[in-house]
Amino acid sequence: VFILAIESSCDDTAAAILLNDKVLSNVVANQLIHNQYGGVVPELASRAHQQNIVPVIDAALRNANIQKEQLSAIAFTQGPGLMGSLLVGSSFAKSIALALQVPLIAVNHMQAHVLAHFIDEEGYEKPTFPFLALTISGGHTQIIKVDDYFDMTVIGETTDDAVGEAFDKSAKILGLPYPGGPLIDKYAQLGNPKAFAFTKPKVPGLDFSFSGLKTAILYFIQKKKLENPNFVDENLNDICASIQHTIIEILMDKLKLAVKETGIKQIAIGGGVSANSGIRNTLKETENKYGWKTFIPKFEYTTDNAAMIGIVGYQKFLSQKFETSSVVSKARIQL
Ligand code: ATP
Ligand code: FE
Repeated sequence: VFILAIESSCDDTAAAILLNDKVLSNVVANQLIHNQYGGVVPELASRAHQQNIVPVIDAALRNANIQKEQLSAIAFTQGPGLMGSLLVGSSFAKSIALALQVPLIAVNHMQAHVLAHFIDEEGYEKPTFPFLALTISGGHTQIIKVDDYFDMTVIGETTDDAVGEAFDKSAKILGLPYPGGPLIDKYAQLGNPKAFAFTKPKVPGLDFSFSGLKTAILYFIQKKKLENPNFVDENLNDICASIQHTIIEILMDKLKLAVKETGIKQIAIGGGVSANSGIRNTLKETENKYGWKTFIPKFEYTTDNAAMIGIVGYQKFLSQKFETSSVVSKARIQL
């Protein structure tokens, strides 16, 4: 089966073509317009989706070298996300499905981040059920117990900011441009992770909190700047390494607890923050250190993309989970 998948939940317009569980094309148009505002502006996002969606889908078809008449189904992101952005993708998906007389498949974006691991890639070993998924992005921080494709339970999540926000807000305090996560990663690689200590939040169970860390960093920087106005410039690498080290420790503490509580030692990560080199290295080390098995997908499948929507679409196609065109977009949906 050939599936056209459309993703438009936030600020990236994406389309992919899958042949069964293989990705033939995966196109993303990033909306750089938001960078100058220091965050995603919903109204600008939906307008940019409208401009991007036709060229992005055309490119996906062209790169896959197929005609739209060959498509077996259209999959789209139903939610969660920004309503105006979701509506552009869903309206478009509905129209194509109707015009081509093929099934329409609604996909939960967060399930897609988890199921991205089942995209068939040469040399990529897929997790087996049950496994734990750590989804870390600009909007989410969740530990999910995955018992089957559509049998997932959130066993821990953030009570305030997401990990991506912790990175971006810390970067902002340091005067770095948005989104600052990748920059913290870059400078951290040159710094000493133990140079400065930030207190870790005390949150019961498997839940996370990141807003306190941001405040701790803000006060720390303010205080240091009083003593030395050039403190940030002179210590940027060490500050970034220390912030990243603290964030990784917070994540690892909870993962260790999740492994202990569930007895599951397969850990799959997803979401834009899983691009972080420190997180990747630390996870890899757990394989020798604790006997865990870790799964880290290709970068293009961890950030928002349509290939992950397509793999869920394929699974739903196999079990004939189709929608009518009255299906509605949802800003919030549970797993
Ligand atoms: P969601 O998927 O929950 O809707 P989103 O679309 O904002 O949220 P993603 O695109 O998956 O999230 O991830 C973006 C986030 O990832 C940003 O906060 C960005 O700073 C962070 N990020 C990207 N690369 C890195 C990196 N190397 N180190 C740390 N953070 C990173
Ligand atoms: Fe996402």
